Amino acid sequence: MKIHEYQGKEILRQFAVPVPRGYPAFTVQEAVEAAQKLGGPVWVVKAQIHAGGRGKGGGVKLARSIDEVKALASEILGMQLKTHQTGPGGQKVRRLLIEDGADIKKEYYVAAVTDRATQRVAMMASSEGGMDIEEVAHATPEKILKVFIDPAVGLTDAQGLELARGIGVPEASQAQAVDVLRKLYRCYMETDCSLAEINPLILEGNGNIKALDAKFNFDSNALFRHPEIVAYRDLDEEDPAEIEASKFDLAYIQLDGNIGCLVNGAGLAMATMDTIKLFGGEPANFLDVGGGATAEKVTEAFKIMLKNPEIKAILVNIFGGIMRCDTIADGVIVASKAVGLSVPLVVRMKGTNEDIGKKMLADSGLPIIAANTMADAAQAVVAAAAKQA
Ligand code: ADP
Ligand code: MG
Repeated sequence: MKIHEYQGKEILRQFAVPVPRGYPAFTVQEAVEAAQKLGGPVWVVKAQIHAGGRGKGGGVKLARSIDEVKALASEILGMQLKTHQTGPGGQKVRRLLIEDGADIKKEYYVAAVTDRATQRVAMMASSEGGMDIEEVAHATPEKILKVFIDPAVGLTDAQGLELARGIGVPEASQAQAVDVLRKLYRCYMETDCSLAEINPLILEGNGNIKALDAKFNFDSNALFRHPEIVAYRDLDEEDPAEIEASKFDLAYIQLDGNIGCLVNGAGLAMATMDTIKLFGGEPANFLDVGGGATAEKVTEAFKIMLKNPEIKAILVNIFGGIMRCDTIADGVIVASKAVGLSVPLVVRMKGTNEDIGKKMLADSGLPIIAANTMADAAQAVVAAAAKQA
């Protein structure tokens, strides 16, 4: 789960990481009031969307008077902000952060991230912070320093210093930088992040260290123990189909292709998508109905897939283990009738009560294409989609 920058800064404040004073604003009026409370003389008006690259896209602007704050707030609120992280259509700006303008002497990059190779949290830092960090990572990866943290010990002072010195923080500010890194690590661990990134972390003219941006991703599997973070969720920033799916406990991710996939088990879902691609097709979604798929869940899954106008055919690929094939067959039949299925449907089922399930589908009178192997199923659905296109 992602959150907005201003929410990320609220979290950083709780962990005593220095951030600029600032207030969120949902209207121009609120932006003006926020600017008056802050007092100036320099303000920054920042678009709040769940995507980075806002600065380059025109979503972060400096203001030197309340009138300028007002003008910028009217300009940015409601705009379709396009960045390299939004789709080509951009993302509509519905919230702003109005904050104190900082006196930036130098911009650094720091981030904590889960490193799968070492199975540890990696703390990264770079002297090349700011708006071009992706370019740095690509062209000069050696400019991104990394230390791997022993979970039993935490980030040590030695590791913190290695990073702070390594990215060129002046000696007088190194202790502050190390302190921020340790707090960022604590914050990462205690809120169950998968990414906690501050870009830029700045050195101010007076030598202080401050976080000017905050980007957090949280591990969704741990959200049950963080109601305070769930409360930050902003549904306007999420894909409507994915929100609908999460209500029914379906793991759904919309993709660019035209073949809908309904599968039980994430591993089988990945393998199904791979097989479709192998035979020249493109999946329209990842959809794992999980172990306890009821007829109701399958119906909702069909409805969600069919809302996607790109869908030309659907492949249902079920392994009947704990979930019995006749239950899925029942779900498929009920769902197909309920949604008035209008695209070809290929069904492959294997496992417990397979024969009963297949007979139910055959007897249903629905135009279902039955397939036996993964390869048969994928070829059938790719051919069916091609015919429709
Ligand atoms: P993004 O990463 O989405 O582009 P940032 O919050 O990092 O957005 O802002 C982009 C740039 O704007 C920063 O690299 C920094 O140079 C400048 N900036 C951001 N916040 C402030 C601030 N409070 N004061 C001064 N400059 C800022
Ligand atoms: Mg940034």
